[in-house]
Amino acid sequence: MRVLVIGGGGREHALVWKLRQSRDVSDIWCTPGNGGISQQAECVSANLEDISTVADLAESLRIDLTVVGPEQPLVDGIADEFDRRGLRIVGPTRKWARLEGSKLFAKEFLNNHGIPTASVLGVFTSAQDALKKLGNLSYPVVLKADGLCGGKGVLVASTYSEASDFVNRSLETREFGHSGGKLLIEEALHGSELSFIVLSDGRDYLPLVPTRDHKRVFDGDAGPNTGGMGAYSCDGIISPSLEAQILERVVEPTMRALSTGVDPYRGFLYFGLMLTPVGPKVLEFNCRLGDPEAQAIVARMDFDLGDVLQASAEGRLRAQELKWRLGASVCVVMASGGYPGKYTAGKEIHGLEEAEAISGVNLFHAGTKRERSIYYTGSGRVLGVTGASESLDSARRLAYDAVRRIQFADCHYRRDIALAGCRVANIGEA
Ligand code: AMP
Repeated sequence: MRVLVIGGGGREHALVWKLRQSRDVSDIWCTPGNGGISQQAECVSANLEDISTVADLAESLRIDLTVVGPEQPLVDGIADEFDRRGLRIVGPTRKWARLEGSKLFAKEFLNNHGIPTASVLGVFTSAQDALKKLGNLSYPVVLKADGLCGGKGVLVASTYSEASDFVNRSLETREFGHSGGKLLIEEALHGSELSFIVLSDGRDYLPLVPTRDHKRVFDGDAGPNTGGMGAYSCDGIISPSLEAQILERVVEPTMRALSTGVDPYRGFLYFGLMLTPVGPKVLEFNCRLGDPEAQAIVARMDFDLGDVLQASAEGRLRAQELKWRLGASVCVVMASGGYPGKYTAGKEIHGLEEAEAISGVNLFHAGTKRERSIYYTGSGRVLGVTGASESLDSARRLAYDAVRRIQFADCHYRRDIALAGCRVANIGEA
C-alpha cells in the first residue's frame, strides 16, 4: 500500500512512524512533512489550501490511502474531492467537518441529539448586542468565535472587562477574520477535561485510549493557551464505569446520529469532554486526531495502523480489534522561546541522537528542518518527546530524561506534564 499523510507536525510524524511498521505499507509520502518526517517518508510540497492539487498529487503518486492530519483541508472538503475521484481517504466530508469548523453547527447537532453540552446563552453578530448581554451575566462565561481560529477563538472570561475585550476583537476589529464574525456565549463548565477519540468507518467505530492534554504554556496551567504543550495516556486514566458513561451518554448517541443517512462520518472524531459533577459534557468536536494527543496515543498502539486505517476507509472496522500496550505514555513538547507569541526559528538542535537512543523514547518532530545531518528549529512547537513504559511515572521519567539531553537556544517546555497523574479528579465518576 502506498500511503500519503497530509500535514507537517508532530501528529503526522507519529502517524508516519507507526505506518512505517505496518506490514501492508510499502511507501509513505508526506506533504509538507518536516525534517524529522523526511527520515521516514518522502516529503513533497503541495498547496494544502488547494485541495484539488492535493488530489492531483495523490493520483500522480498512485496513492492507495491518504490520511489527513490537520482540520483545514477537511473543512475545505478534501474528503469530498477524493471521494469524487474514487481515491481512498481517512477523514470526514465537508458536511461533517463542520462539527469542528462551526461551533454553532456543533452545538445545534449536540442539542438536536440530546448529547450533554454547555448551554448557549446567546449567539451574536453585533458587538453592541453581545455587550448588552454580557452586562446581565454572572461570571465566568465562555465566548467562542464560530469558525476555525487556530486555537485562539475561545475565551473563558472571568470578568466583564475580559469578555468585552474579546467581543471587540472578534466582532469589531475582526481579529479572526470571517471566523469571528459570529460569536457564541455559553455557560462555563467545571470539572476535569478529557480527550476521547474514536475512529469510524461510517457504520462502526472503535475508541482509542483516552488522553489528557496541557494547553497552557507554563507549569501549573499558567499563561496563554498554545496548540498543546504535552499530553499523556495511562491505564486507569478513567474508571471503567466512567468510560461506560462516556460511551453511553456521549459517544453512542453521537455515532448513531453520524452513521445514518447517505454521508456517514468516516475518520477520527475527537470529543473534547468536561467531566462535570453531573456527568461528561462535550466542550468541542475535532474532526481529526489531536496534536499532541496523537503522539501519546500512537506510542501505545500495539496493532497494525496501516491495516486499521485501510479498514476504516473501506468500511471494515467491525472485524478489527485495537490492542494497546499496557502502562502509559507521556509526550512533552519542546518549544521555541517566545511561543505561543513571537519566536525566531533556525536554531541548531543538539542531542537528538543521544535522546533517541533511550529505549522507550520516540522523538516526534513538530517543526524541524534538516540540512544534511543537522536539524534546526522550524516553528513554535519543535519536538514532541514521547516516553512509553509500564507506568505513568516511568513514562514521565523517560520523556524528561530525553528532554534533558536535547538543547537548542531559548528552548522551553513544561516540567509538569502528566504530573497530576491518572485519576485526577474524575468528578463525573458515577
Ligand atoms: P474548545 O475549542 O471549544 O474546546 O475550547 C478550548 C478550551 O476552552 C477547552 O479545552 C476548555 O479548556 C475551554 N472551554 C471551552 N468551552 C468551555 C466551557 N463551556 N466551560 C469551560 N471551559 C470551556
